[in-house]
Amino acid sequence: MILLGCIADDFTGATDLAAMLVRQGMRAVQVIGVPEPGAPAPDADAVIVALKSRTAPVGEAVGESLAALAWLRAAGCRQFFFKYCSTFDSTDHGNIGPVADALVAALGCGFALACPAFPANGRSVYQGHLFVGATLLNESGMEKHPLTPMTDANLVRVLARQTDGTVGLVGYATVEQGAMAIRHAMTALKEQGRRYAIVDAVSDAHLHAIGQAAETHALITGGSGVAIGLPENFRRAGLLSVREDAGSLPDVAGHAAVLAGSCSRATLFQIGTARAHVPVLELDPLAVPDAAALAREALDWAGGKLGAAPVVIAASATPEKVAALQARLGREAAGALVESALAQIAEGLVARGVRRLVVAGGETSGAVVTRLGVRQLRIGMEIDPGVPWTFAEGGAVPLLLALKSGNFGARDFFLKAFAMQAAP
Ligand code: ADP
Repeated sequence: MILLGCIADDFTGATDLAAMLVRQGMRAVQVIGVPEPGAPAPDADAVIVALKSRTAPVGEAVGESLAALAWLRAAGCRQFFFKYCSTFDSTDHGNIGPVADALVAALGCGFALACPAFPANGRSVYQGHLFVGATLLNESGMEKHPLTPMTDANLVRVLARQTDGTVGLVGYATVEQGAMAIRHAMTALKEQGRRYAIVDAVSDAHLHAIGQAAETHALITGGSGVAIGLPENFRRAGLLSVREDAGSLPDVAGHAAVLAGSCSRATLFQIGTARAHVPVLELDPLAVPDAAALAREALDWAGGKLGAAPVVIAASATPEKVAALQARLGREAAGALVESALAQIAEGLVARGVRRLVVAGGETSGAVVTRLGVRQLRIGMEIDPGVPWTFAEGGAVPLLLALKSGNFGARDFFLKAFAMQAAP
């Protein structure tokens, strides 16, 4: 029986939420895009539908979210979760408000809490204001985000601009008093006709209390942090057994590889650290601006080296090199060329017996997963916070994947990943 049905507005955000639920003892499966109506539900306690709706046109984001909700309802979920970024990434037009409005209306619940806080990652909400570390959201760098510039840290105002409903606040003083006080405050706001409550949280204890207070809510909205208290509600209700093995995945034999398309600092460090231990190939898309030729070169290079220890194939480059390719091809074409090359390499590696694959880069992961035809990931244990091993279900061959958003993971991430998931 699926207890919690989640709709995430992007791919790595979905994985982040799934990893949180696994850590709290729920077996979780992430599905990529909305499954066909009537498609069988995965065997899991929580299912997360990963959409790409964060910056999609509003109508499309609403439509996809409602389709995901309809599928999750048909699968029998008892409670629903709308996951967005812990920096509340959105504009005055959406998509958080319009999507939440549509979900509240479809569920007929009239009210939902909104809490992006994730204190463990430095995101806290105080008096309705979102902080990133010690700075207000609108001074954190997020005010310069290319797609969703966050120029106001007051989430009551931010959400109010995106909805035709009204927004209240459950402030710190109430949250400090615990679950009962939070529940009463939310009920009072609902009775006053508020559709949303921004709920303060500056600690995990607050998030646990908020989760408990929302036990009977049909819909909860927020970052992955506020999901921390939900599994305990299901256990208390006798619906979820205590599981030590929520993140266990099948053993998979076969070769190991890393594909890197992220140019973030963390990924560049991770490649540098791996270089002392395993073979690393750096692709040069500026010298060979042809995806098929780059893929051939990489697969020829990898041929004799594949085994239990990983090979690393990286397009990742310094900002200067990235800028040079972008100047020649244009930004989008440069990205598409590299993504296509890495996706073809992934396909070639799997054909050559690779069964444990780490991919670095959000867009890169999307391209690889699409090319491999992966639709469903069972979520395993985290390698580093927010990045779990996953098992691709329903594919032609058994395959373990770790899909890493560029900036995630410690310096030894690649080595750690394969130490954790060694061939049986
Ligand atoms: P992150 O998670 O760090 O944002 P992404 O994979 O989402 O990583 O984005 C990185 C982008 O950079 C991808 O579109 C990738 O194809 C592109 N890229 C990777 N290497 C190069 C390169 N050498 N030159 C130009 N673009 C590159």
